[in-house]
Amino acid sequence: SKAPVITVDGPGGSGKGTVTQMLARKLGWHLLDSGALYRLTALAAARQGVALDDEPALVRVAAGLDVAFMPTPPGEPAKVLLAGEDVTSEIRTETCGDNASKVAVMQPVRDALLQRQRDFRVAPGLVADGRDMGTVVFPDAPVKIFLTASAEERARRRYNQLKEAGVDVNIDALLEEIRVRDERDMNRSAAPLKPADDAQVIDSTGLSIEEVLVRCMAAAGQA
Ligand code: C5P
Repeated sequence: SKAPVITVDGPGGSGKGTVTQMLARKLGWHLLDSGALYRLTALAAARQGVALDDEPALVRVAAGLDVAFMPTPPGEPAKVLLAGEDVTSEIRTETCGDNASKVAVMQPVRDALLQRQRDFRVAPGLVADGRDMGTVVFPDAPVKIFLTASAEERARRRYNQLKEAGVDVNIDALLEEIRVRDERDMNRSAAPLKPADDAQVIDSTGLSIEEVLVRCMAAAGQA
């Protein structure tokens, strides 16, 4: 009776974002970018002058998030509105990602975002992108994928993305940031980043996005 879900978890830069967009488009299913909710919580907190260590206030921010994901042409990332304001590119900065991972260690903040994520599970189906989609949010998902890549490869991809966007970055600094964020995500007690016991692990190091998509479709049994 519940709509089907394909969960795709893994560290940042593993290709998850692009692959989940392509999967959702191919299947004609909904897409949940759960990382955006943590990024939006961090951004909304900053806007409201809430400190990143003020847990009770952060829980209120998370619970009260006024967010809309606007559909865009197929293949393009959804436009993200916070209280009606377009923050699509603002939530993509390294700083926002880093702040997101700081608020994401707090179990009560995660609890405040849980039902909002489960509400995305509607017909005809959902592709869910995150860190704990297969372990916590949709433990009964029929298909679970854990997408990884070496830290060096992930830093390279992120570097190229930023360069294309006209942002000047240092690849060594980027690699260091990625390592710090991975460590925080993997070693926290609340929903740590790890493959679900029943996840299929795909290492995207050295693979093109098309090759990763083929493997994900095979894992999903739709190839
Ligand atoms: O995937 P993205 O880089 O947008 O996620 C930003 C941060 O949000 C992650 O580093 C992680 O700490 C947190 N996150 C999480 N659980 C999720 C998705 C993201 O803890 N399901």
